[in-house]
Amino acid sequence: MLTSEVQNFPGFPDPVLGPDLMMKMKSQAQRLGAELIQDDVEKVDFKTYPFKIESQNRTTGALSVIIATGANPRRLNLQSELRLMGKGVSNCAVCDGFFFKGKKVAVVGGGDTAMEEASFLSKFASSVQVIHRRDSLRASAALKKEARLNPKISFVWDTLVTEVLGDNHVEGIRLENLKTGKEEVLKVDGLFVAIGYDPNTEIFKGQIELDERGYIVVKNNMESSVPGVFVAGDVHDFRYRQAITAAADGCKALLDAERFVKERIEIQEVT
Ligand code: NAP
Repeated sequence: MLTSEVQNFPGFPDPVLGPDLMMKMKSQAQRLGAELIQDDVEKVDFKTYPFKIESQNRTTGALSVIIATGANPRRLNLQSELRLMGKGVSNCAVCDGFFFKGKKVAVVGGGDTAMEEASFLSKFASSVQVIHRRDSLRASAALKKEARLNPKISFVWDTLVTEVLGDNHVEGIRLENLKTGKEEVLKVDGLFVAIGYDPNTEIFKGQIELDERGYIVVKNNMESSVPGVFVAGDVHDFRYRQAITAAADGCKALLDAERFVKERIEIQEVT
């Protein structure tokens, strides 16, 4: 929902916006008979069977579960970043980029997300400065090249953002060069934080195996450490993080879940 133009989803010769792609997926699932319940899950119990899923308004029993809760953008953990969130600080160029028409913006990060955000923002902003804590980018070659060739995008290397400045809206950022220790203030109207993600697995702690970063460990095809609980997308996949890889996971997880439920029913019928 938070990505801008998806360039690599099969079947779309022209780029499709993330939210538009999701709406199409939703109506496709509904056409095929999926019932959608919009609710926040607060607790799960995978130690009983059928599994229990407690959300704000109901408790749902499930013969099998596919977890696809994704990952959330990381923050710089600056007080000023929180204070000015939505007032010039953003994690989503596609949501907020338009508000920076003709303005100067900065993007923090050196990965694919940062390059994507910078390229998207360059359509609106007068200039985009990428602030990166090292002197080389970890982004993929294609996105790196696109950003480097873009005349509106420039790079500030070996540098941290230490404060976001402004009372009611962003007026600038304080920077610290990690090699020289030199501090400076860069005047910008917006700051886009694009430094990676944390998986949404809080509610699964103690229920299934997570790795040291909190991602769900996949044991057997798309199955988690609990038989019958399957996984799809960024909640386990910190490497590819693509809509197409998450969709492929979802397809595999569903086939596994169907097989799991069928086998359970067959065992019950025999016994
Ligand atoms: P990432 O690859 O983990 O990059 C995060 C960037 O933020 C790194 O450059 C990192 O610096 C920097 N960073 C992390 N914490 C920081 C902090 N506290 N202060 C300053 N800088 C910080 O995350 P990502 O860019 O979100 O990409 C994640 C995965 O999704 C990757 O596998 C990527 O290929 C994929 N992805 C693909 C696409 C696409 O193909 N269209 C788009 C988006 C994401 P260091 O480099 O020094 O660690």
